[in-house]
Amino acid sequence: MLLTCPNCAAGYEVPDHVLDGPPRMMRCALCATEWEARSPLKSAESVQATIAEPMAELDLPAAVRLAPEPLAQMNAGIVRDGQVRRGVIGWALSLAVLGIIGWAGVHWRHDVEATWPPSARAYQAVGLD
Ligand SMILES: [Zn+2]
Repeated sequence: MLLTCPNCAAGYEVPDHVLDGPPRMMRCALCATEWEARSPLKSAESVQATIAEPMAELDLPAAVRLAPEPLAQMNAGIVRDGQVRRGVIGWALSLAVLGIIGWAGVHWRHDVEATWPPSARAYQAVGLD
């Protein structure tokens, strides 16, 4: 599971079993911020346990009473969506960096050739003078 520092957004990959028990104190290696980390599924279960009794006292239709049940699934879905979003952002940034490097290599090719003469052959090979 990926934990993120609430202060500086540094990411830490932590084995899932680390948060199976009670919440644990985490300390960011970059900014030394401490925060309490808990399993997102455990969080959903604790919310469900907290609201179960008040909801039972209400005279709600069965469909509404069952609503907390998928909470853990929704929570897991949010975590998955976050990981997918970070993956897409990572790929987009990687492609952008490669694009900038490629553009710079073409734009400043004469400087590159002056600094490193053998690169002239590579530029000629792809049709640049
Ligand atoms: Zn931090």
